[in-house]
Amino acid sequence: MVQVRREIRAPEDLGVDMIGVPEDSPIDLDLRLESVIEGILVTGTAEARLAGECSRCLEPIEEESSFDIQELYFYPGHEAEEDAHRVSNEEEIDLEPVLREAVVLNLPFTPLCRRDCAGLCPDCGVNLNRHPDHDHGERIDPRWAALKDLGPATADADPNRS
Ligand SMILES: [Zn+2]
Ligand SMILES: [Zn+2]
Repeated sequence: MVQVRREIRAPEDLGVDMIGVPEDSPIDLDLRLESVIEGILVTGTAEARLAGECSRCLEPIEEESSFDIQELYFYPGHEAEEDAHRVSNEEEIDLEPVLREAVVLNLPFTPLCRRDCAGLCPDCGVNLNRHPDHDHGERIDPRWAALKDLGPATADADPNRS
């Protein structure tokens, strides 16, 4: 069994739409490589810096995150499923696809700057985290607002109208 601690640089496109690991940023790998009958079992963690955007308030997000890695790399010639990861003939393993899976599959599709992010005001877009007392006064239900627009149609019946 071999313990591998290594800092690598993030490959490009390591992420999803709204959040990901910036290209070239450091990723700390802390892995155990264990020889088993079928191949090499790799387990451990990858720690990376994430950068993205809150899906509610659109503020930038920066945070550290740790991703679990567990993958069996099959020895050349050992029977395995077609898409199984393999130890190369030079006895090397390619960590990138496994790292990519571990990171991308565990990123939130709707990242939040904080769990209770209040988001933006639906009417004017003000950030409600920064302006918790933001208010437009009495709220008019949009359905009633639409009726109000119909006002002139009933104006003839309005006795106050001169
Ligand atoms: Zn937010
Ligand atoms: Zn508003």
